[in-house]
Amino acid sequence: MAGTIGVVGGGITGASVAYYLSTRSDRRVVVFEREHVAARTTAKSAGYVGFHGGNTRTHRELMRYGIRLYNEFLSDPGTDVRHRTIGGLELATTADGRARLQSRYRATRDQEDGGGSAEYFEGDALAGSMLLPDVNLDAVEAALFWPNYGFVEPAELAEEFAARARRAGAEFETGTEVTDILGSGTVTGVETGEGSVDIDHLVLAAGPWNEQLASSVGLDLPVRYSVAPALLVEDPSGNAYPSLTHRESGVYLRQHHDRRVFLGHYQGDYHEATRENRAIPDAVPPETRTRILERAARLVPRLERPTVRDEWVGLRSLTPDRNPIIGWTDVDGLSVATYNATGIQHAPAAGDILSRQILDDDPTRQYEGVSVSRFDGYTDGRPL
Ligand SMILES: Cc1cc2nc3c(=O)[nH]c(=O)nc-3n(C[C@H](O)[C@H](O)[C@H](O)COP(=O)(O)OP(=O)(O)OC[C@H]3O[C@@H](n4cnc5c(N)ncnc54)[C@H](O)[C@@H]3O)c2cc1C
Repeated sequence: MAGTIGVVGGGITGASVAYYLSTRSDRRVVVFEREHVAARTTAKSAGYVGFHGGNTRTHRELMRYGIRLYNEFLSDPGTDVRHRTIGGLELATTADGRARLQSRYRATRDQEDGGGSAEYFEGDALAGSMLLPDVNLDAVEAALFWPNYGFVEPAELAEEFAARARRAGAEFETGTEVTDILGSGTVTGVETGEGSVDIDHLVLAAGPWNEQLASSVGLDLPVRYSVAPALLVEDPSGNAYPSLTHRESGVYLRQHHDRRVFLGHYQGDYHEATRENRAIPDAVPPETRTRILERAARLVPRLERPTVRDEWVGLRSLTPDRNPIIGWTDVDGLSVATYNATGIQHAPAAGDILSRQILDDDPTRQYEGVSVSRFDGYTDGRPL
């Protein structure tokens, strides 16, 4: 049996990678997590899962892979992960927004691999097509409806991966921080608060902290970050309506469990995002909270001045081409998984790809689309 495979990070990525490695091999798999499973980005996520297009075939393949695996998990009577399919509406209230939805719809319809089943509405057509008494349809210029949009409770899903990985023999060293990667040119181990551990192969699954760890061995990942605030507010009516996304204001919202609504805000794409991984504030800054609430109430007037039950700020990792970076790096014995904000959807595929590469030297069919070597100036350690 070859040596130990280490994984830094016990979010949904690390848990998925551990699940695939331990169920597909006898190798010793150790996950180092400085807090507990699903302590960070994973727990802060909106958890959307469902096929909704995707800019490239690779993106769509990864998405479909994830949905298939989650259907397998969730249909197991022993699995207790909350989830719901609610449908998703993208709303546009300006001419530019309408043009964007039109072009997205056309691109989706024309994808030869079956981009997804979106429905496009213009003007007041939406009001004549769907029961949406809670949604302010007056200003809507156009809408795109994705019937298969849904969400999962992401921390529960990560716990499910971890439980399955543990049953297959993976070890989760929680409360253990990786402080250094050992070896020069080739990874030989990690330094942790508990001492050093010999490692044959290391996977960086540390979410927004991947970049710091990678740079400690001279690897400058092409990743940026944007702050992602979220509010959980009360909605005493509990009426059902699809998830709503309004790109012009950056607001998205979806119903949550227990008569609550999850409100989030997109704060720009890769080009507007920052290089440095800023300290994440614990709470949503007051002016951002006010802005999100005002904008959400314009979409769903009943949400004016709701009781805020919880709030937090996460970090979205963003890549230049919106596809994830998964796989070998040019540091021997080091692999990485980082996303463009869709880690819940893509974590199963990340586990599949990384385990195939590490265990079998199999680059996988998504190799060209996910390898860091697709970016200028980057290579990876793919075996020749
Ligand atoms: C508000 C918000 C909404 C989102 N919505 C969606 C969505 O709807 N759908 C979707 O697919 N994705 C969504 N995402 C993105 C998704 O949540 C992330 O891509 C995903 O959770 C990343 O998981 P991860 O395991 O890679 O990272 P994380 O969950 O951040 O896990 C990394 C772990 O590494 C640990 N760690 C870091 N450094 C070290 C170290 N040195 N030693 C030991 N442990 C370490 C951390 O403690 C952490 O637990 C959203 C993100 C945010 C913030």
